[in-house]
Amino acid sequence: MSRIIGIDLGTTNSLVAYVDEETGLPRVIPDAEGRMLLPSVVAFTPAGILVGEAAKRQLARRPQSTVYSVKRFMGRGYEDVKDELRYFPFAIRPADGIVRLAVGGHEVTPPEVSAVILRSLKERAEGHFGEPLEKAVITVPAYFNDSQRQATRDAGRIAGLDVVRIVNEPTAASLAYGLHRLREGVVAVYDLGGGTFDISILRVKDGIFEVLATNGDTHLGGDDFDRVLMLWLLEDIQARHHRELACRPVDLGHDSEVMQELRLAAEAAKIRLSAEERTRLVIPFEDFTYHREITRAELERLVNSLVEKTLGPCRMALADAGLRPDQIDEVVLVGGSTRIPLVRRRVQELFGQTPHSQLNPDEVVALGAAVQAHILAGGITNMLLLDVTPLSLGIETLGGVVSVLIARNTTIPTSAREMFTTSVDGQTVVDMHVVQGERELAKDCRSLARFELRGVDPMPAGMPKIEVTFLIDANGILNVTAKELRTGKAASIEVKPTYGLSETDVGRMVEESFQYAEADVEARMLIEVRNEADTVMTHVRRALKQAGDLVSAEERQRVTAALEALARARETSEPDLIRETTTELNRATEHLAEVMMDTALRQALGSQRAAEIMAGGVERGEHPPAQGNQ
Ligand code: AMP
Repeated sequence: MSRIIGIDLGTTNSLVAYVDEETGLPRVIPDAEGRMLLPSVVAFTPAGILVGEAAKRQLARRPQSTVYSVKRFMGRGYEDVKDELRYFPFAIRPADGIVRLAVGGHEVTPPEVSAVILRSLKERAEGHFGEPLEKAVITVPAYFNDSQRQATRDAGRIAGLDVVRIVNEPTAASLAYGLHRLREGVVAVYDLGGGTFDISILRVKDGIFEVLATNGDTHLGGDDFDRVLMLWLLEDIQARHHRELACRPVDLGHDSEVMQELRLAAEAAKIRLSAEERTRLVIPFEDFTYHREITRAELERLVNSLVEKTLGPCRMALADAGLRPDQIDEVVLVGGSTRIPLVRRRVQELFGQTPHSQLNPDEVVALGAAVQAHILAGGITNMLLLDVTPLSLGIETLGGVVSVLIARNTTIPTSAREMFTTSVDGQTVVDMHVVQGERELAKDCRSLARFELRGVDPMPAGMPKIEVTFLIDANGILNVTAKELRTGKAASIEVKPTYGLSETDVGRMVEESFQYAEADVEARMLIEVRNEADTVMTHVRRALKQAGDLVSAEERQRVTAALEALARARETSEPDLIRETTTELNRATEHLAEVMMDTALRQALGSQRAAEIMAGGVERGEHPPAQGNQ
């Protein structure tokens, strides 16, 4: 049995764990000094690369060469992160859809930085077992999209690890708590770490976990608490020491070294206030020393709105799972920030019960990753883990409308297959646009990938049968293929999720889908009736041309008039009028269709039949893709 380690690659701290063969219990592997947590900090110094505590100590002295919270940049584009850049002392610049960090004279990508952390954990585990290790399970927030998951895999590969499974953090946490021993029940996992917040609703039945719903905020966590306290301290220092500060050449708020110092002081004070009612802060400056006592109540006032911000996603997840708070049987706390008494109180109030917190909230995800690793290595065989897709996945079809193949919160691994066709005669290339999101129109969703299906034999519009398959593997990685079936001539396509394409925050996308629901449905309806009108008009025009003198002048005139009426109606924004006029045209061509049926023009009829099926929406899966009008 080849050993697989479990890794929690955290925003603030990372850990590595394994399952002890003798006891069957998961354990975190400590470093040589007995420390479990490896700070997710990497410093690029002239003497070499430092990681963990050593790098963290450099933060204040070498802010420009030290990277922290790199998880925030994993698989993200410049547009996604530019609002935060003022909080980071190192330069960040766009590069091929991802970002590069300029640190200590180096330019590195986020996966390269994460790889330094992973390599250190790998070496820690190798030291523990006294043998080389290659395989790992790595956890990610449930809200990580495909690019972010892919970036995490890349980091593993750079570190020399075969990432055998990417697991959602809340799923891992529930495993660590051994909740599979519940015969049946519903569990809410509330995970507030350093940089991300996740809420997951899991159903446990007969030893099987199923994630019913997930929600959260990829930009909410202990780092934000530190920032709020840090800015408050800055203001207080400026107010109380403005005379001494007046002589400083650089404004305190623009001195990155001072800001780093304040950040560390703020975090330390916050942590002390979880256990104590009040704490003292002493921060020495060149010509004065700042002293301040701060109480837990003061901290709670500062962070209260941030804690409240976690409750909205909790309610949304409950709504998605179709459950009320009192239908949750167990609540589990995960992440260092759940040690904050205010957080515990709020979670307890929302769910009306005392949450589980027996396990160390910093370690619980790593312990669960180890359990998952043990399952994969064959140590435990009677457990299956199911996750869900956080956002719907689909392709753009004619007119920019999204056709969803896999709905949000579908249990993975999963696959979906649907038939599409072309919209233009003789089309040999079809553009496929894969999108992710909850909105009706592709332009409002996140663009995930574009690719071309080439080599389609030229055929009348509506004739090719294009089978599109979406496959999400157990790691949440999406694979899309398209195949033209009618000719048997297949073209297969590989889709690599592109990093950082104008990604919008997942939570916001879901919220917007509710906000714009009505307008979106109207826009979609208009596009659909117009598509339908266009298809019918194309086929009628072709039939008229091919019919020659098989139709009388009078019939030709009547059909032409109906065609012109539809062409005019199509230009209005009235779906009802367009639909009615389309029906009129269909009625006016009934005889024409019969005539065609009896002639040698059966081939043309074939495409008209396809058009009718499409227009009537009888057969789901006959939508022409929007792109590829070649
Ligand atoms: P994680 O990402 O789960 O490692 O959580 C790290 C976050 O938890 C950081 O923001 C820490 O400052 C915070 N944290 C750790 N211990 C405590 C504590 N005792 N009280 C408050 N926050 C804490």
